[in-house]
Amino acid sequence: MLSDMLPVVVVHGGAGFVPRQRSELSVSGVCSAAGSAYGILKGGGSSMDAVVNAVTLLENNPAFNAGIGSVLNVRGDIEMDALVMDGKTLASGAVSAVRNIANPTQLARLVMEKTSHACLTAEGASQFARAMGIPEVPVESLITDYSRMRWQKNLAADANPVECQMGKMGTVGAVAVDTEGNIACATSTGGMLNKMVGRVGDTPCIGSGGYADNNIGAVSTTGHGETIMKVTLARLILFNMEKGQSVEAASDSGLALMKSRVDGLGGVITVDPQGHWAARFSSLQMAWAAAQSDTLHYGLYTGEHFTQNIDDPESHYPKYKA
Ligand code: ASP
Repeated sequence: MLSDMLPVVVVHGGAGFVPRQRSELSVSGVCSAAGSAYGILKGGGSSMDAVVNAVTLLENNPAFNAGIGSVLNVRGDIEMDALVMDGKTLASGAVSAVRNIANPTQLARLVMEKTSHACLTAEGASQFARAMGIPEVPVESLITDYSRMRWQKNLAADANPVECQMGKMGTVGAVAVDTEGNIACATSTGGMLNKMVGRVGDTPCIGSGGYADNNIGAVSTTGHGETIMKVTLARLILFNMEKGQSVEAASDSGLALMKSRVDGLGGVITVDPQGHWAARFSSLQMAWAAAQSDTLHYGLYTGEHFTQNIDDPESHYPKYKA
């Protein structure tokens, strides 16, 4: 029998430190994405439709490091990665190093649905997008003043882009369970600040940037990609759940292992088939929001958990007091 806790959707806006002046933007962004995706689930829509909707909205929001607002590589260019996974069939689709596309997650979904492959990269991904009728956008239209400013700062000889990014991430992701008990995840990112040209991170790698399995649950991750990949963080957390741990304990022990074993910080959102969910992080902050039983939950700092009725007219734009 299906749980009365369904449907549920959880969204994150990246692990790290959100500068004070961007806190409200980040929290209202994840809240409105969760609210919109929840509307899809309540209307009987699928978990895949819900996670792609949430992540598309966050890609279109310049406050996050995905789609418009993506961080720049060392050449001042954008190369984005995205992943979706369907927990019913274990089908997945991903794109890496894509440049001229506003919504890499939608392209990742097409890779899953329309090709026999799991990941397309760079020029091949662009050709596929063209064949699917996805409009090309100029890379400049995805670059914000903020991302250009951070790129320039990190070109200085004494800069440490990885340290700097541990301060200010903004990768986005969503996990959901629909009324039929189907589970899905989606994750999208511009990657790491001033990364090498051609660098591909954890996000499009199944098991690292995300994983979904109707029998266990789903996870979407964020944090330093090179360390997330070393512990295959998303699959590690689901493994912990298979061993009987709760969504919260499994997420915390996955993040703790990543910290102790490879000195990495990050964040995750996790659901199980009953609709239990968690938003956990070892970084200073992670903007997150969840929608379940007509209640919107959200937070930014460790230990924070605000709630309000989803139908509250203010609910999609809560006043976050930094
Ligand atoms: N995991 C992403 C990457 O390494 C970055 C992030 O989550 O902020 O590409």
